[in-house]
Amino acid sequence: MATKLPEVDILLVGFGWTSAIMAQELAETGLSILALERSAWRDTPADMAPTFDQDELRYYWRQHLFQNVSHDTLTIRNNTSQTALPMRRLGSFLLGTGVGGAGVHWNGQIWRFLPSDFLAKSHNAQRYGPQSVTQYDMTVQDWGVTYEELEPHYDTFDKLCGTAGKAGNLRGQIQPGGNPFEGPRQNEFPAPPLPMTYAPTLFAKAASEVGYHPFPHPAGNMSQPYQNPLGAQLGQCTYCGFCEKFACGNYSKATPQTTLFPSLFTKPNFTLKTGAEVLKINLDSNGKRAVSVTYVDGEGREWEQPAGAILLGAYILHNVRLLLLSGIGKPYNPQTGEGVVGKNYAYQITSSVHVFYDDKILNPFIGAGALGMVVDDFNGDNFDHSGKGFIGGGYIALLTTNGRPVEWYAGSHIVPKDTPNWGPKWKAAVAKNYLKSATLATHGAVMSHRGNYLDLDPTYRDIYGRPMLRMTFDYTDNEHKMSDFLTDRATDIAKAMRPREFRANPRKGSWSVVPYQTTHNTGGAIMGATPQDSVVNTYMQSWDVPNLFVMGAGAFPQNPGYNPTATVAALTYRAAAAIKSQYLKAPGALVQA
Ligand SMILES: Cc1cc2nc3c(=O)[nH]c(=O)nc-3n(C[C@H](O)[C@H](O)[C@H](O)COP(=O)(O)OP(=O)(O)OC[C@H]3O[C@@H](n4cnc5c(N)ncnc54)[C@H](O)[C@@H]3O)c2cc1C
Repeated sequence: MATKLPEVDILLVGFGWTSAIMAQELAETGLSILALERSAWRDTPADMAPTFDQDELRYYWRQHLFQNVSHDTLTIRNNTSQTALPMRRLGSFLLGTGVGGAGVHWNGQIWRFLPSDFLAKSHNAQRYGPQSVTQYDMTVQDWGVTYEELEPHYDTFDKLCGTAGKAGNLRGQIQPGGNPFEGPRQNEFPAPPLPMTYAPTLFAKAASEVGYHPFPHPAGNMSQPYQNPLGAQLGQCTYCGFCEKFACGNYSKATPQTTLFPSLFTKPNFTLKTGAEVLKINLDSNGKRAVSVTYVDGEGREWEQPAGAILLGAYILHNVRLLLLSGIGKPYNPQTGEGVVGKNYAYQITSSVHVFYDDKILNPFIGAGALGMVVDDFNGDNFDHSGKGFIGGGYIALLTTNGRPVEWYAGSHIVPKDTPNWGPKWKAAVAKNYLKSATLATHGAVMSHRGNYLDLDPTYRDIYGRPMLRMTFDYTDNEHKMSDFLTDRATDIAKAMRPREFRANPRKGSWSVVPYQTTHNTGGAIMGATPQDSVVNTYMQSWDVPNLFVMGAGAFPQNPGYNPTATVAALTYRAAAAIKSQYLKAPGALVQA
């Protein structure tokens, strides 16, 4: 029996980027705000001092910072004809856990989506015909929000993070050196681009030669000392190359800890409770109002925490599972196409081309999470898709995110074709090529499909006896055609870089949960203009339970060809503004702009 606690005004579930932003934004209202985070407290610089944060075995192979799948996992299958099995080791995506969430060990690649991405259905249907958005059983939708509406909130996140970059479109004027395809920005980036290393410079030269438009990748790694509008101070990045999957011990990567905590933890009306795993959202007898959550603490005791409003920030997979376990919204049924909770789960499709030189020393260990050059010529609808048989696209980048020898060179097999995967020949190939190789990566969109979704597993349960989340996901022809096209364009650039040899690694076959790809899971709690086709409105507010808000990339109706977090943050800022200006004055369903 759960012990009931005193009510708080605002309750945040989970404490990563989304909840930390929301807490900071709502703190000014003076309302009592409580965040429940299932895992431990951590403050990056203190807990991850540079002296021991570069331990690849501990942080990468033994997955020290990520969700412990022996405690909680999900089941996986490619399609409904298969039986889903529990994921017993993290692979394709790395679920965050602990204060700051995955924001602690992200790369800091900070992207805005294209204006046309938010109109994926109507824009593509108009340009390429209605069949372009329904072929391959696609269930593509418009977002209900536009780039223009999100632009000021993207800007707020850029300023929070000190994003380093070069604008390509300032108030409609195309700017030299930036991304000419991006939507109009009202302001230049808050910091100049990171100084470029050798390999991305070679990439940019080659990309220009073949007629593309290279620009510096937008980065949440500091190109210079930076003080954000909340007064948090970050230091210039030293290019140690331990960003992704590691915490930065140098205050040089934008994370919730470095950008928000110095301000947030001075607020007397904000409290964070760690070791508090939320099991369920409890509704009133009409099922129209969330009254509390039930959580378990580190000693296994159950508590009921009542709240005026509940905001889920537990990451998309946990948010969707909590909705399903709590009976909120109609679960999606892939047979009938009815229901919305769990619908349109999507992901990202990636591929790569390695280049190997004899005469160029590239020093791959000089890196940062978002250090590199990129072309966006083949993202979204930046090119004519007529006759290509797919919609969407992705970017092609040469990033020197890291040269970590154990993970990157051993794990990713950056060795020439026909090298064995282990043994003396492999070692000799690594030794020969380590300093003289680099990787061009493609990062592609995944459209929503009728057969890709999330639901509760009928067989497997967690330690509390609750059904696990079940993921049913595979790539379809749209993704494969698009990714092959991107890999070919990356190969064009690789050839123009004039290496000794190159090795293309296209993404073939079904999606596999084994190799790491990205932690860019999306959908399942999708946003939209009507309750018939979405779980939340454009303010992340549940259509069914108006005092419940669901933050995060679960809201994406499909996944564009960019990293998600800046858009997740922009949607969170927009929701926070609507909560302050509308919801708190008249709690209830928000009027859509
Ligand atoms: C290795 C890696 C690199 C990445 N790099 C990039 C990048 O460069 N650019 C980019 O855009 N994105 C990147 N991402 C993705 C990015 O980190 C996420 O989009 C972002 O952190 C999501 O924020 P969130 O608040 O939705 O969830 P999270 O950061 O996952 O936070 C959710 C929190 O909720 C807690 N929680 C979960 N369930 C419960 C529960 N039941 N009760 C209580 N607490 C709970 C978790 O412990 C966690 O702390 C990367 C991710 C990873 C793993």
